[in-house]
Amino acid sequence: MLVKFARGEGLHFALRGRVEEYFQRTGLRSRDCTRMYVKSAILVGWFALSYCLLVFVAAAWWQYILLAISLGLAAAGIGFNLQHEGSHGAFSKRGFINRLAAGMLDWLGGSSYMWHWKHNVLHHTYTNFTGADDDLECQPLARFSPYQTRHALHRFQHLYIWFLYGLLPIKWQFYDDFATLVTGKLASHRVPRPRGRQLLLMVLGKALFCTWALAIPMVLHPVWGVLGLFFLSSLVLGITLSVVFQLAHCAEEADFPAPLEGSLRTEHEWAVHQVQSSIDFARHNWFLNWYLGGLNFQIEHHLFPHICHIHYPALAGIVGLPVRNMASATLPMKASSQPWQPTTAGCGAWEGQSMRSAR
Ligand SMILES: [Zn+2]
Repeated sequence: MLVKFARGEGLHFALRGRVEEYFQRTGLRSRDCTRMYVKSAILVGWFALSYCLLVFVAAAWWQYILLAISLGLAAAGIGFNLQHEGSHGAFSKRGFINRLAAGMLDWLGGSSYMWHWKHNVLHHTYTNFTGADDDLECQPLARFSPYQTRHALHRFQHLYIWFLYGLLPIKWQFYDDFATLVTGKLASHRVPRPRGRQLLLMVLGKALFCTWALAIPMVLHPVWGVLGLFFLSSLVLGITLSVVFQLAHCAEEADFPAPLEGSLRTEHEWAVHQVQSSIDFARHNWFLNWYLGGLNFQIEHHLFPHICHIHYPALAGIVGLPVRNMASATLPMKASSQPWQPTTAGCGAWEGQSMRSAR
């Protein structure tokens, strides 16, 4: 492991106790929630209806465009809810239901195996650690962390980043998974390449995706029209996914911690680190609370990824105050006296730096 977290300071222990007490008091299940199953049926129905109308029914240009946008939004909803929840094992206590939900990513053209390593292992462990959290990697085109090298081009990234966000799904589906398969690397980490069943699932998923997303529509419609609408759907999907992920970790309220000087140890325990590097947003928006699968309750998600997101609003009330009290007491933001100059890419960039908060 690149980074070792400091010994527990009591935050996670205290929060776990409060959350366990909540489930005992209410008698609610932490997974297998009825509302989650209903929501999943609505999202899958939305996706299937959009696809069928787009491919088999639409006749006017504006119908094609509206349905392609609808398809992209439905795919994002499935990703936020079924796929993300299943990959964390938070959907159900039954493993095959979680695998089925997580496998929605293979249906959508991404590899659920690669996602496990990229998201569950690296992002959830090393959140906002430059060089270790693959979600921060977009160099040299864009700079998401204050520890990354600044290029002249980045002055304009607030303008062109939207196009890059839109390209995310296509890059993911047709390049990133294969690049990881070949190199066995994500960010600065080595990850085991998929083998046997996992490799077969990845290949079959890609083939299935190309069949429903491109081959079948091309049998019924002109190739240029299918490619144009595929691109539009991907653009909507990519921008939606990216904006949500960036709001949760790459905004001014989030910290980008670095290990202590001269070591790869963190100053604080894992739970404190998660609170500092995650952001809750739009917690009172009923639609986003439904659509985002709890990703707008990012602090609660990072502290309790195995609990169904249906409970996050309640958990926010339970964990909110102790989290904020402890975080502000243990992690005073320390401004750097000198501008930080990266020396090498990746985790090596941490070495010798004493700045804990790069802002
Ligand atoms: Zn997650």
